[in-house]
Amino acid sequence: MHWSERIADKIIAKNPNKEVYVCASGVSPSGSVHIGNFREIAIPYFVAKALKMKGKKVRFIFSWDDFDRLRKVPVNVSQVVDGYEKYVGCPYTMIPNPFDDGAESYGRHFEIEFEKSLAELGIDVEYIYQSKEYLSGRYADKVTYALERRKEIYDILMSFKSQEASDEERENYYPVAVYCSGCNKDSTKVIKYDEKTHNLTYVCKACGKEETVNVLEYFKIKLAWKVDWPMRWKEEGVDFEAGGIDHSTPGGSYDVCSRVVREIFNGEPPTYQAYGWLGFAGVSSMHSSSGINITPAGVLKFYTPEVIRWLFAKYEPEDAYNFYFDDTIIRHYSEYDRGLHAYLSGEADGFTKSLFDLCLIEGKTYEDETSFNTIASLAPIVDFNHDSLVKAIAKLDLPWTKEADLRFEKATYFLKTYQPEKIFNLLTEVNHDYANTLSSEEKAVVKKLYDYLNNTEVIKDKEVQQFIYDAVNNPNLTKKENIAVQQKYFKIFYNLLFGKDSGPRLYMFFAASDKSKYINLLNI
Ligand SMILES: [Zn+2]
Repeated sequence: MHWSERIADKIIAKNPNKEVYVCASGVSPSGSVHIGNFREIAIPYFVAKALKMKGKKVRFIFSWDDFDRLRKVPVNVSQVVDGYEKYVGCPYTMIPNPFDDGAESYGRHFEIEFEKSLAELGIDVEYIYQSKEYLSGRYADKVTYALERRKEIYDILMSFKSQEASDEERENYYPVAVYCSGCNKDSTKVIKYDEKTHNLTYVCKACGKEETVNVLEYFKIKLAWKVDWPMRWKEEGVDFEAGGIDHSTPGGSYDVCSRVVREIFNGEPPTYQAYGWLGFAGVSSMHSSSGINITPAGVLKFYTPEVIRWLFAKYEPEDAYNFYFDDTIIRHYSEYDRGLHAYLSGEADGFTKSLFDLCLIEGKTYEDETSFNTIASLAPIVDFNHDSLVKAIAKLDLPWTKEADLRFEKATYFLKTYQPEKIFNLLTEVNHDYANTLSSEEKAVVKKLYDYLNNTEVIKDKEVQQFIYDAVNNPNLTKKENIAVQQKYFKIFYNLLFGKDSGPRLYMFFAASDKSKYINLLNI
């Protein structure tokens, strides 16, 4: 059984007669949303899909926590503008957009960036923008309610802390952040709150403003997040949410918020799934800095949407796992293709079937794909020329499917960015210096290959493979000894063609590329 079905069953068992189940996720647009945060969305998304497949009605909501304060200016912002430190403490939607793209605020810029990727990934979401909700006054009665119950909230929070509670602290505890009407910052301190009139007096440490506002009219007040989170569970009727391991430890945020929702808001916490961290590996030092900033859009440059969905659906949520920027990418495509083939032909096992039910995008049609590995092997041979690549694939008797153009685009980016060493350029003239080092016996084998290629009209990869084995293998040697001989000759061919000891898959190279470009290089 797939993990999403297991979780869906748990949700249904907890609340069997609910009409519409709510799966929730949320992120703050503090900067570019990193691929490392992507499980926050992917896990509830797949659980929502599993619930739907069980015939349930589901809302999948995504809260943009854009009413949170800016904590720190991210590097990609300080690279384009100076002086954004002055906005630390302001909500993301009240900070000017540092980029020249027309988005109305800092927060909105990063929201649009991520929303575009979600759309490309075929992830349908109902967005809730917390700035909009707070500023509309939707939560005003929740804020007054929390202010009334502030001492009980303090007691709950303190019960999870090791330090002693104090009467004075309890007396002066207000579970809100007030954004100053003068400077928009949350560097404020509540000095008085009147439960009857709902008048609240704050003083701003940043600009010195002191003001009395009415909480039912002044909406630039946000609940502290361990109150805000459970308030929204209750408000939206959330049945499921996922969170990082750090929120999930005993006594961590989820436990605290569970008590707050029960004891303060008279609600129930959602079913919760902790997820393991995503890391990065195989990033060369040259790309390590960009690796750290990898966004879903960055990953979409080399994975198709379906392969990303497949990766996130495949691993158990608790498992930590690494993104690799090396041949693992090719292996992932091959594994995906094998699964897809089994799925389409009806031969898939239960887990694979569920996996593909989840990762394929509704409304699209699927077929067996042109192998990414083949495209990635051939593209450099034909100098990344699209038409030559299509012809080369046809020469290998392989199909060029409707997704192949997209795979070609991804393979080109992958090779040029992460594996430039795999791009081999043909020499432009005969490598005489190298040829002069060869023995007459070795030269004779090169001549044999030259004659064969020169005289063969349609070169087939399997036939040229057989020809090379026949030309170099010695029947008096053992298999192991012959492998060494083959390796020696491959090195010779590579040096004559590319001036290097290694190169692309040779049979494929001979079969796929334009003979006129290489044949003279073997005429030594
Ligand atoms: Zn102020």
